[in-house]
Amino acid sequence: MSSNLYWTVDIGGTKILLLLIDEAGRVLYREKKPTPKPARPEAIAGSIRDSMELASATSGIPEASSPGGLAVCIAGFVEAGTDKVHQSPNLDWHEPVPLGKILSDHLSCPVIIENDTNAAVVGETIYGAARGHDHVIYVTLSTGIGGGLFLNGRLYRGSSGFAAEIGHTKPFGKGRLCKCGGNNCLEAWASGTAITAIARELWDESILEDGPITTEWVFEKAESGNAIAEKIIDHAAHSIGTGLSNLVTLLNPTCLVIGGGIAAGRKDFFQRVTEIISREAIRPAVNITPFKTAKAELEPEAGIWGVYALITGKAE
Ligand SMILES: [Zn+2]
Repeated sequence: MSSNLYWTVDIGGTKILLLLIDEAGRVLYREKKPTPKPARPEAIAGSIRDSMELASATSGIPEASSPGGLAVCIAGFVEAGTDKVHQSPNLDWHEPVPLGKILSDHLSCPVIIENDTNAAVVGETIYGAARGHDHVIYVTLSTGIGGGLFLNGRLYRGSSGFAAEIGHTKPFGKGRLCKCGGNNCLEAWASGTAITAIARELWDESILEDGPITTEWVFEKAESGNAIAEKIIDHAAHSIGTGLSNLVTLLNPTCLVIGGGIAAGRKDFFQRVTEIISREAIRPAVNITPFKTAKAELEPEAGIWGVYALITGKAE
């Protein structure tokens, strides 16, 4: 018998996060586990089913194995209105995967699949930093750069579900390949992975006394006044600020939520990006519109709460 409990799952490249949530939003069970390697879809589906069985057997919640719905978000291109994930570089999926079908084969409840940053913008809008807003841009600055749009009071997916891929807008420099297959995407120049890669081209890591080179390392070098590191961070901040100010000019949101590890611990970086946006977006979009930038509040569970809102009809 199905219940009014919902499984919400965030499938990432390194970990899978699962929460069992009731209709009132109470979290009954929470588990974080490594993503199977290799990340075959069937192995991931099996791992999710194992968690359901485990919760059912050990948590005093027998209905956990027959939920009212399963809502999944994933770092990949999810085709709207289908259960297909077209590409997920993080999971090494390069062919379409009918993930919804694979998951629902053993379940009798509805299954929804959503892109992780689409889910995150919904989560932050309904429960997080953009509560009460109807026009929201969400961006995550992490190893990659992703985005989500919540416009006119609902999730905006574009015609096929591939909207808001701000990380792959271009060009933000010359000569850097992006993992999407394109060149000079924002992500290829300003993500955590890019900052590290650029630094590795400029320093010989093998002779560094304070290595290895990480994103953190580059930020710390810049903060201690190293001119090369400052230049790398400046370029990243400027690229992100310019990309986001273009979005603000294009979409006229009231709230821009910034998530991800790069901005999270660094007030200064967040501040710089915010200043670039207020300088470069058209005046009325930041002066007349009551526009604000905010740090994400729900990490690392923004996507989870987004798909929860979608499967329970609290957002559309
Ligand atoms: Zn790209």
